[in-house]
Amino acid sequence: MSEHRENSIFVAGEWRTAASGATREVHDPADATVLAVVAEGGREDADAAIAAAHEAFGDGRGPWPATPVAERAALLRRVADLLQRDREELGLLESRDAGKTLEEGRVDIDCVTDAFRYFADLVAAESAGRVVDAGSPDLHSVVVHEPVGVCALITPWNYPLLQASWKIAPALAAGNTVVVKPSEITPLTTIALMRLLAEAGLPAGAANLVTGPGDPVGARMSEHPDVDLVSFTGGLVSGTKVMRAAADTVKKVALELGGKNPNVVFADACATAEGFDTAVDQALNAAFIHSGQVCSAGSRLIVEESLRERFVAELARRAERIRLGRGTDPDAECGPLVSAAQLARTEEYVASALAEGAVLRAGGERPAEPGLADGWFYRPTVLDRCHRGMRVVREEVFGPVLTVETFRTEDEAVALANDTEYGLAGGVWTADAGRARRVAGRLRHGTVWINDFHPYLPQAEWGGFGKSGVGRELGPAGLAEYRESKHVYQNLAPRPVRWFKG
Ligand code: NAD
Repeated sequence: MSEHRENSIFVAGEWRTAASGATREVHDPADATVLAVVAEGGREDADAAIAAAHEAFGDGRGPWPATPVAERAALLRRVADLLQRDREELGLLESRDAGKTLEEGRVDIDCVTDAFRYFADLVAAESAGRVVDAGSPDLHSVVVHEPVGVCALITPWNYPLLQASWKIAPALAAGNTVVVKPSEITPLTTIALMRLLAEAGLPAGAANLVTGPGDPVGARMSEHPDVDLVSFTGGLVSGTKVMRAAADTVKKVALELGGKNPNVVFADACATAEGFDTAVDQALNAAFIHSGQVCSAGSRLIVEESLRERFVAELARRAERIRLGRGTDPDAECGPLVSAAQLARTEEYVASALAEGAVLRAGGERPAEPGLADGWFYRPTVLDRCHRGMRVVREEVFGPVLTVETFRTEDEAVALANDTEYGLAGGVWTADAGRARRVAGRLRHGTVWINDFHPYLPQAEWGGFGKSGVGRELGPAGLAEYRESKHVYQNLAPRPVRWFKG
C-alpha cells in the first residue's frame, strides 16, 4: 500500500505541498518498502502554520477559543466517535507505519479515543473558574482559566497518534489553537486525525499540521515568537534543544522525555508457582512489548540475588520463543524496530554491553527466518550480570534489550532503582504489602506500578522526575498545562488610598 500524500501539510483548513516541493518516503519497517510519500516541510511551512494558528487564536477571540466549553467538548466527543468509526483503518495504518502488531494498533486507537473522551468530559465538568475571598465585601476576586494561545505540539514515532492525542485533545479542550509536528518517521495517522478534526467541524486554523524533520520544522516551532507553548515528547537530546530554543521567548515548555525504567522483583513475589509465572511473564511484557520501543519499557530488571538464576533462566527461555513478524501476521507477537538507524543503535548497545562483560542469555542477533530478512527486526535480548558502569544500563536503548542487575537488601534495591538520571516509571514485585508501599514511596519515578507493569489511566498524570521531563500529561494537570490562570480583582467601592500624602 504505497500512498502519495504529497499535500500532507494542513494550514488554515487547506492541504498543501511543502513550499520547497520536497517530499519524503515513509517506510514499512517490516520489509523496508515505501509505504507513503509525504511532504517534507521546512521553516517556511512552519511559519505559515504558526501564522494560521495565531490568526485563528485572535487574541483569544477567534472562533475556537470563543466557542463555548460545552460545544468544544461535544466536538471532541465527535472526534472520538469518528476514531471508532475508522478504528480498523487507523489501527492498520499505525501497525504498518510504526511496525506494531495489528492488535497493538487497534488498542492504540482505542486509547486515543479514550483521551479525547476524557478531556471532553473533564473540561465540560469543570467550573469556569473560582471565586476567592479577597477579605472584604467591597472586593470581588475571581480566578479564571484561559487558553495559553498558539501551542506547538511535537511528537515521537513509537506511539504516533497516542502521543499526539495526549497533547491535541487537552490543548483544544482548553481553547488553544495548535500546530502539530509528528515524527518524520511515522506521520500517517496524525495526518488522518487532521481529516477527522475537520470532519468533526473544527474551525479552519484551529489545528494545523506540518510534516517534516525535527530541524528545521520542530526547531522553528520551538523558537517562533508567536508560539506561546511548546509541548514535546521525544528523546533527551532533542528535548534539551527544544528547551533552549524556547528560552529566548520564554514560552511555556512541557517535555516528556525518555526513561531507563527499573523493574524490581523481590524473591517473596515468586514464593508460589503462580507468583513466579506472573512476575516472569510481566517482566517479559515490560521489556519487550513493541520491541522495547516504549518510553516506560521495563528495560532494567533488578532481581533479588537468591532468585536470579531461576528467574533469568525462565525469562530467557520465554524470550527465545517470542514470535517476530510483520504486524498483520496473526501469529506475530512482536514487530520490527522502526528504522534501520534504530536497529543499528540496538546492535551497537548489545555489542558494547558484551564488551563490558555482560552475559548474553537470549537474543543478541537479528532473526534467522528468511521472511524477516528485509525488515528491521531484532531478537528480544536478555543481558545478565550487568552493572551501573555499563552504558547499556545507564542509557535508553529503545529496543528489545533487557539488562539484569541483582540486590540483597531492600535499601540496595531502592538505591539501584533510583540510580538513573531519568525517572519516568518503575515497577516493584512483592507479596509484602508494607514493603510494596515503602518501596513505592521511595522510588523517584513519575509512575510506580506495584505487582503490575505498563498500565496507565487517562485520569492519572503521566510524566517524569529528573531528566524524564518537565510537566505532566493526562489527568487534571494534563489540561492545566494548556491554560493560563487569570486573577480578576474588582473593587466595588473604590476610594483614594493616600499612600502618597501630597
Ligand atoms: P526524537 O527526539 O528523535 O524526536 C521526537 C520529535 O522531535 C520528532 O517529531 C522529531 O522530528 C522532533 N525533533 C527532533 N529534533 C528536534 C529539534 N531540534 N527541535 C524540535 N523538534 C525536534 O525522539 P524519537 O526517536 O522520535 O522518540 C523516541 C524518544 O521519545 C525516546 O527517548 C522515548 O523515551 C521518548 N518518548 C517519551 C514518552 C513519554 O511519555 N515520556 C513517550 C514516547 C516516547
